[in-house]
Amino acid sequence: MAYNKIRINPISPEPTIGSVLVIYTGGTLGMVYETKGKQLVPFNFDQIIEKVPEISRLNFDITFLSLSEPIDSSNMNPEIWIELANIIANEYAHYDSFVILHGTDTMAYTASALSFLLENLNKPVILTGAQLPIGVARSDARENVITALELAAAKDLSGQPVISEVCIYFNSLLLRGNRSKKRESSDFNAFHSENYPPLATAGVRIEYNLPYISQRGADLPLQVQQRMDSSVAFIKMFPGISQLVVESILSIEGLRGIVLETYGAGNATTAPWFLNAISNAIERDIVIYNVSQCDGGRVAQGHYETSRFLKSAGVVSGSDITAEAAITKMMYVFGKETNVSSCIELLATPLRGEMSI
Ligand code: ASP
Repeated sequence: MAYNKIRINPISPEPTIGSVLVIYTGGTLGMVYETKGKQLVPFNFDQIIEKVPEISRLNFDITFLSLSEPIDSSNMNPEIWIELANIIANEYAHYDSFVILHGTDTMAYTASALSFLLENLNKPVILTGAQLPIGVARSDARENVITALELAAAKDLSGQPVISEVCIYFNSLLLRGNRSKKRESSDFNAFHSENYPPLATAGVRIEYNLPYISQRGADLPLQVQQRMDSSVAFIKMFPGISQLVVESILSIEGLRGIVLETYGAGNATTAPWFLNAISNAIERDIVIYNVSQCDGGRVAQGHYETSRFLKSAGVVSGSDITAEAAITKMMYVFGKETNVSSCIELLATPLRGEMSI
């Protein structure tokens, strides 16, 4: 697919120090109020440049590319994740880094999905967005976009990018993408990463948390996995969850995996019907991935009586993975492997720093 690109002419007197490709997908950041109505709708991306003239004062080459139809990120899907990953792969040799402008609602899912899809990534891919549209006076978009660009362009003393993984930058925090969660729908401080420290904090200076930033890998060609399998579902435990609901989900035809959102350290009811439904599903080769409903801490199956059964039945522990990373990892792993034991092994292993062991 041919994409329309706009290159910014830098007016900085300093020589340029690299190149960034900005991929605009939509979201509040690039939204305007409909002329008549009160609804926010995506606008044409070339207006973003008009709204943030400061961009041309940065001393690196910036090129904008827009998806043909900018979307509210609630309409994000695995096909667009693969499209985004392919854009990055096709442009990989031409740019030093990538910034993705994205709606906040599903940004943590996209960041997680891209972290898995982009194998051998050695350049920064930074997602950002905003809580208020860029045209609004109090918008957080300008700061988020400019700092994301600076983080993407940052090089170390040997001229290599400081960041070489998929991240989210939002409201002064640079977070590992597959550790992030949207926690606020109205506060500017919208994202957090409870189980992994921020990779950088942007105050007057940008302070990098170097020990937590992924090291660059060997210079292998960037690979994009071209398939994600959506034959997955969530089951979120709650007191009173019915047998009918659990059994109905587990009997969906073609279902390959469930992210089971459990209580606390990975606990669930020990009602006999529930235990039967889980072991029956595992016998039918449905993979169950145990993820805690708590943002902080981790699953420790077997720690309590109420999780001992899950462990012995063959439920896979997600340790401290987020639900967003767990479901996208499952789609990625099922897209890669058909063999159930290989899938289980991959799910139990940290692939891109998404979980601790
Ligand atoms: N609904 C919007 C989206 O995710 C919200 C936002 O961008 O903040 O696209």
